[in-house]
Amino acid sequence: PRRVVVVGAGMAGVQTAVALREQGFTGTVTMIGAEPHQPYDRPPLSKAVLLGKAEGSAFDVDFEALGLELRLGCEALALRPEAHVLDTSAGPVPYDVLVLATGAEPVRLPGTEGVPGVHLLRTLDDAERLRPVLAEQHDIVVVGAGWIGAEFATAARGAGCAVTVVEAADRPLAGALPAEVAAPMTAWYADSGTELRTRARVERVEPGAVVLDDGTRLPAGAVVVGIGARPATAWLAGSGIALGEHGDVLADDHLRTSAPQVYAVGDCASFPSRRYGERLMIHHWDNALQGPRTVAANIVGPGPAVYDPVPYFWSEQFGRFVQYAGHHRHADTTLWRGDPTGPAWTVCWLREGRLVALLAVGRPRDLAQGRRLIESGTPMDAGLLTDPSRPLKAA
Ligand code: FAD
Repeated sequence: PRRVVVVGAGMAGVQTAVALREQGFTGTVTMIGAEPHQPYDRPPLSKAVLLGKAEGSAFDVDFEALGLELRLGCEALALRPEAHVLDTSAGPVPYDVLVLATGAEPVRLPGTEGVPGVHLLRTLDDAERLRPVLAEQHDIVVVGAGWIGAEFATAARGAGCAVTVVEAADRPLAGALPAEVAAPMTAWYADSGTELRTRARVERVEPGAVVLDDGTRLPAGAVVVGIGARPATAWLAGSGIALGEHGDVLADDHLRTSAPQVYAVGDCASFPSRRYGERLMIHHWDNALQGPRTVAANIVGPGPAVYDPVPYFWSEQFGRFVQYAGHHRHADTTLWRGDPTGPAWTVCWLREGRLVALLAVGRPRDLAQGRRLIESGTPMDAGLLTDPSRPLKAA
């Protein structure tokens, strides 16, 4: 191919462009990004950038030196795969190969569209709007006790705000972790002085207050909604590109879409995992780093490269460093290393005697060792595994 066009200039889009050059691609690479800002990294938005400890989080990439063309403030509106043309707000863009990397959009709380004082946290603009809110030390209500909700609550407590987190499920991270693993995390909220209200739903947001379905009125100088994200793929309607039930672009194990010469990577896509025997949609940073290397390899050739990662992510919340590697299912065996009421512990998930996933709190060495054991699929000795004083290794 002579001309690669990448839609979306976030982590996955930028990494695709960089990987193309690293792997020797000499043709034209054009990145189309809807946001006006120089491409930036998102994890710092709920951490250092939010607290004003870092000005921004622009990627340290010299686009000009790499010969990568950036078209910012330009939105992809439609795709015509038969014609090999992308329609954008700045007109049609022809391509030989197209890479979809439009990421995800936060889910809004119904009825709060355009309501002043209700915030999302996905973009640099969102984080910049929230900084003064923290500085003014308002009472803050966070909706959703997921990863974003926990990280935002941590920052807001750190800034001296009174924080209440409202969660519809009976525990934090209900979508990601089983009850017994989330249980010790519930205490983190209380320890940090954050009020966590589980089994609670927002009925409506009024000026200065959030009203719950049981009639409780929570004072709220600001409301931050963190109830999940959906692939940003609405613009692909009518293109013929196959989408999954969550709007995810259905990629194959080479990260190819249903249209010829069109790939998809990062938060906007899902792919079949050979390793785990199911389709995965991953909304984490490492997937937007690793996937692009496979896409670039498949564009540059020679042979098809398969994408089959051990997924990985981290979160920094309530003074803890939380890391997860792999992918577990409900039926997998759960084993503990260490005391979950203490500052550092690990949970391992085994399937047929092999490690398939682990969650490490303040135990980065467990994470590093476990990740390799998941990768290799080595049989484990459950008895040795549960002793936190021994290194995590095979029998
Ligand atoms: P995105 O980063 O969403 O980038 C997609 C880009 O495409 C966006 O800039 C968007 O404007 C643009 N775009 C969308 N539609 C169009 C269109 N039609 N035309 C042109 N451009 C378009 N992960 C972790 O593992 N650890 C963390 O601690 C962590 N913290 C996070 C904190 C926050 C606040 C957020 C929001 C995410 C965090 N993540 C974290 C997740 C991680 O940042 C994402 O998985 C990663 O950004 C995905 O990269 P992406 O390029 O696929 O999508």
